[in-house]
Amino acid sequence: MNQPGTTISIHWPNTCFVQSVSDTRDFPEFDLAQIAVAGHSNVGKSSLLNALFGRKGLVKTSKNPGCTRLLNLFEVDAHLLIVDLPGYGYARAPKSEQKRWRQLIESYLVKSEALKLVLVLLDIRHGPKDSDLQLIDWLNDGGIRWLPVATKADKLSGNARARRLQEMTDAMGGMLAPLPTSSFDGRGINKLRQTIAEELRTAASATIDPA
Ligand code: GDP
Repeated sequence: MNQPGTTISIHWPNTCFVQSVSDTRDFPEFDLAQIAVAGHSNVGKSSLLNALFGRKGLVKTSKNPGCTRLLNLFEVDAHLLIVDLPGYGYARAPKSEQKRWRQLIESYLVKSEALKLVLVLLDIRHGPKDSDLQLIDWLNDGGIRWLPVATKADKLSGNARARRLQEMTDAMGGMLAPLPTSSFDGRGINKLRQTIAEELRTAASATIDPA
């Protein structure tokens, strides 16, 4: 459990896969803060989670984008639960499938009181797509904190990267500035870990002392 006001030291490689859930009614009881991770299929979500955990191959990269309709739960060092939301917006998926993903993601976001932050992953080369903006609308409507995480930052050089980050901010608004990351060269990964620890600390303090 996270104590209010104390610095949270998380040993990220001490992560284990807990279970997959296809219906939020099957979500196990956990006395842990939750951080959800969302993004378009192929945005680099599995690679980023493996980099975050410092554990190659713990999160399976899907060979068949859009065919994951599960919430995958990972317990990190007895401190938090990472909820890997199914990738959305796969253009070739049938409408009925897209609807199911939306319902699953939406019902999780609505129900989870332990949810402290959603990492919204966006490929740094592309602006937010309609499905990203829709997710952000839900998060804003639900008063849920979210952090834009720009993936594949190694793909752009300095100036282009700064420009894209500014464009992302302009398109999305939001409380937190986009964080550039790369699973290939590791940039931004430690900063992401620090940001998560800081958000958990702040959330734990707010639970005890709402002022
Ligand atoms: P997911 O579908 O969102 O889980 O995405 P994956 O992690 O499977 O990655 C999708 C593709 O993007 C794969 O071809 C990865 O090799 C590539 N990729 C993922 N992360 C990075 C990154 O940081 N930099 C670059 N250049 N490519 C990446």
